[in-house]
Amino acid sequence: SFPSKAVAANPVSDLSSPLDLGNCSLSLSAAPLPYLHASTAFVCVSRSPVSQPYSQGAMNLSGPHPSYSQQYGAPPPMQQVTNQMSGMQIGSGPPTSVGPGYAHHPSSQPPISAAYSSAAPPSYTQAPPPLSAAPSQPPLPVNLQPPSLTMVAPSPQQQPFPSAHHLSQPFVSSSPYLGPPSQPQAPPVSQQQSFPPGPPAQQPFPNSAPPPVTQASYSGPPPLTQHSFPPSSQSGPFPPISISPSQYPGPQPQSQPGPPPFHSGPSPRGPIPPPSMSQQQANHLPPGPMQQQQPPQPGMQGGYPTQQNGAFGQPRGPQPGYAGPQYPVQQNYGAGPAPAPAPPAQKRLDPDSIPSPCVCKTRFLVLPQIQVIEDDRVNKSSEPFTTGVKGQAPPLVTTNFQVKDQGNASPRFIRCTAYNMPCTADMAKQSQVPLAAVIKPLAMLPPDETPPYIVDHGDGGPIRCNRCKAYMCPYMQFIEGGRRFQCGFCSCVTEVPPHYFQHLDHTGKRVDCYDRPELSQGSYEFVATVDYCKNNKLPQPPSFIFFIDVSYNAVKSGMVNIVCQELKTLLDYLPRENPEADSVVRVGFVTYNKVLHFYNVKSSLAQPQMMVVSDVSDMFLPLLDGFLVGVNDSRMVIESLLDQIPEMFADTRETETVFGPVIQAGLEALKAADCAGKLFVFHSTLPIAEAPGKLKNREDKKLVGTDKEKSLFQPQSGFYSNLSKECVAQGCCVDLFLFPNQYVDVATLGVVPVSTGGSVYKYTYFQAETDRERFLNDLRRDVQKPMGFDAVMRVRTSTGIRATDFFGSFFMSNTTDVELAGLDCDKTVTVEFRHDDKLSEDTGALMQCAVLYTSCSGQRRLRVHNMAVNCCSQLADLYRNCETDTIINFFSKYAYRSILNTPTKTVRDTMVNQCAQILACYRKNCASPSSAGQLILPECMKLLPVYLNCVLKSDVLQPGADISLDDRAYLRQLLSCMDVSESHIFFYPRLLPLVKLDGGSLPMAVRNSEERLSKGGVYLLETGLHLFLWVGANAQQELLSNIFGTPTFSQIDPNMTSLPELDNPFSQRLREIIDSFRSQRSRYMKLMVVKQEDKAELIFKHFLCEDKSTSGGASYVDFLCHMHKEIRQLLS
Ligand SMILES: [Zn+2]
Repeated sequence: SFPSKAVAANPVSDLSSPLDLGNCSLSLSAAPLPYLHASTAFVCVSRSPVSQPYSQGAMNLSGPHPSYSQQYGAPPPMQQVTNQMSGMQIGSGPPTSVGPGYAHHPSSQPPISAAYSSAAPPSYTQAPPPLSAAPSQPPLPVNLQPPSLTMVAPSPQQQPFPSAHHLSQPFVSSSPYLGPPSQPQAPPVSQQQSFPPGPPAQQPFPNSAPPPVTQASYSGPPPLTQHSFPPSSQSGPFPPISISPSQYPGPQPQSQPGPPPFHSGPSPRGPIPPPSMSQQQANHLPPGPMQQQQPPQPGMQGGYPTQQNGAFGQPRGPQPGYAGPQYPVQQNYGAGPAPAPAPPAQKRLDPDSIPSPCVCKTRFLVLPQIQVIEDDRVNKSSEPFTTGVKGQAPPLVTTNFQVKDQGNASPRFIRCTAYNMPCTADMAKQSQVPLAAVIKPLAMLPPDETPPYIVDHGDGGPIRCNRCKAYMCPYMQFIEGGRRFQCGFCSCVTEVPPHYFQHLDHTGKRVDCYDRPELSQGSYEFVATVDYCKNNKLPQPPSFIFFIDVSYNAVKSGMVNIVCQELKTLLDYLPRENPEADSVVRVGFVTYNKVLHFYNVKSSLAQPQMMVVSDVSDMFLPLLDGFLVGVNDSRMVIESLLDQIPEMFADTRETETVFGPVIQAGLEALKAADCAGKLFVFHSTLPIAEAPGKLKNREDKKLVGTDKEKSLFQPQSGFYSNLSKECVAQGCCVDLFLFPNQYVDVATLGVVPVSTGGSVYKYTYFQAETDRERFLNDLRRDVQKPMGFDAVMRVRTSTGIRATDFFGSFFMSNTTDVELAGLDCDKTVTVEFRHDDKLSEDTGALMQCAVLYTSCSGQRRLRVHNMAVNCCSQLADLYRNCETDTIINFFSKYAYRSILNTPTKTVRDTMVNQCAQILACYRKNCASPSSAGQLILPECMKLLPVYLNCVLKSDVLQPGADISLDDRAYLRQLLSCMDVSESHIFFYPRLLPLVKLDGGSLPMAVRNSEERLSKGGVYLLETGLHLFLWVGANAQQELLSNIFGTPTFSQIDPNMTSLPELDNPFSQRLREIIDSFRSQRSRYMKLMVVKQEDKAELIFKHFLCEDKSTSGGASYVDFLCHMHKEIRQLLS
């Protein structure tokens, strides 16, 4: 036992070691890199290669005339394409029939895919390679003949469960990356012939349009169209997820014509609290330890077994893997501090209702994750959350609530780990509670909330503090009758410009306070003047450039066809601020394999023109005029191009790709157009072709778990880091869509997207039939979503703290400015604060996040978010006002970054230690006396252990044998820009029993444990990236009929990716729920049906995060005991 009132001044020495995970930083070198070839950027013909890149001599790709202008008529097969490169005019002819390499995509009937019925137990991260899938590389290198499709052997390179799959071994060595055959790489004879020296000085921009080609030449719709794609007419049935202008970014009318927007905000208001819960609330029964008996959980009746362990403190059956007796029988948990006045946020609560420590006679360790979420939902969803009260923790991310901006930024924009910051660095160090904010500057708001207003201060630009340059905000104090104002951040006094002068009322407030968003709101935007623009020049509208890999695998998987078909309609939904006007975003198109094909799609052309750049060693842009165009101007030419691309490359045998030159080409194009923009790169393989940024296969699973594991997460070379820096300087954001069949080195390929504010999407073993929906939804959202370009974010703080560390997808060239080539509505930046002085309880702490960016219409703007939090000198106050979900968001980002430099096990141990210190500090200083055998957790951190355990055993930090290095790198990057809501569900998925779906409410979630699953039930599991529908082997026939249209378990097709549209309320409601879940996430969640005891159940069980994991992750119960032990050790 120990003194109950240990105070802050008496820190425990062993609590004070700071978290030190090594020196983590972005892997971008600080040295400036000159542009590679500024002087040659626009020389497009007759340029001698700087060097001879193809040293093997076999491939004459880099002749003196690397670029050709070529008009083409009918889509030529590959041989013709290579002929084009030699300058031949290809006349029109019959379209090439789609080669055998093209899979047909009969979308009308779900294919009996090999996905989960093949012998291999599937990996939960991706579907396993179907037996029919193409190998990622046909065995070209070994055979000088062009490979024929009959040579294609199934080559499941990434075998989730190697021991179980007899097919995996024979093909591993056939990987072109691994064996020596690929090293000298004698190219096929046909390729040698393909690139003779080009004709000298060929006219690259023919003035006359090419002979019109009759429509008949192209009239056969591409194969996919017949089956699955909507007609390409503008007003076609493409389901637009249109951005509602009323949500973004200006103060526009709420009424929204047109289709419903996708929104990242919460779904429609949550379920009405069931009477029993309301009653509980009315009685002020606190959530937590006082509840010895749990009211029956709503939704849990009706043929389902009662939740034996769901209730807090209820007797609990034996746990698998938990022996029980070693834990103390008497436990106390979840209790708040003894002298706990109600926090201001909960005025409605009777102070008497605040829980005090109590001793539960029952077995401990049943901390009700679900109950905490449910209580918050019941208590906080009924009234709007107003931001006017400083230091008030918002409702949980799982609660649907409305926000009213009254002077602080909405929690949709900023969430903090602590809303009551410790006054001193010592106190912060003692508690070990991280001080951080998770900021989502361009977050979309739900339709019933007002987006930030746009403020124009005229030619002088926004009013700012003279010294610290903070922007005008509610924390500026006007003095001297309104002639000057004192800065809330640095206390400096600044003159008010005459045009901004206003009188003060008797309270010292400006009389126009409530007419001006910058004086009364937490979030708003300023129109930026030319002073805020690069080179003091107003920006051009941004451009989007699409780079489509047309190598063998990309074509074979159906990706090329799908992308081209989709773009025809998607281009009508480019982002715009005025829904009435056309988007001003210009577009450009490039296809590539080991060479790049640029397309002239100028409106005056009858047909697009292709220009091939085969000298990829020194990338340049072969055309200026006609490359970036307005969609409406060039619609016919673009559509023609998109029709032709799939057919042109249908028979390609080129398996190699480049990647570095692709990014360079996009960068050069944006430079030439003097604009910012986004590159959409659709890429399939490891770029092994000779070119800058060429990569080698370095996948080595033997390194996992060793000290060298960290190298797997670092990029292979500095090339892409340097390239990123150039991209950021230009405002060139890169989004990467990967379609790999084997290792592609996501850790390296992702460097540019991650450094430029872009995104990486990954569709392993992409199959058109089963993955098209997910890919297309992701692509649609990605193209349409509101975003800013060429952005710089700065976080200012009041004296005493400062922002010291940043996490997310961005680049930093100094210690304060977060540079984002692109910033979209889904991206968050997590900022850590540290003390540099004492804070005052009187003034609290202020932060102001200002993001300067170019809107999608080309306007330069400043978005400002302000946040004030309280400061405290008592630890108990700190522990009363923390937000665990945000703390976990911070910890996980910290840990995921740390593995770049620190062994994974060390990272895990350090996290456990820090959390133990947090909880020990609470126990020592805030909790009332009790026996050391009791586990006492602060009320707002009750869930810290369960969530921490989920982070520790996540695939990135503790991988199972079935997860690939690419997947881990991918997840690591993905998490780095997740908001709190996404990281919450990523680590603790939502498991819903599908009972009583009538009415508008959701069934109450159950804990993520196998023992919660009833054989007689059906459950929906949402992870943020996947949706699973688990069907119990004895599920009631009526339930099955309602959902699947068949009463028989065995007749349910586990390969379905969407539910049949049945005409019954249950089916309708379930599909509604699935749709609403999908609409809340930034990534489309594919639905997987998992039948109990099918092999696919392994995947599903991986997400039951309270159970022991196959990779050795502890069960929640075991972990809680471990934490308890750690805490006791710290206290003893
Ligand atoms: Zn200032």
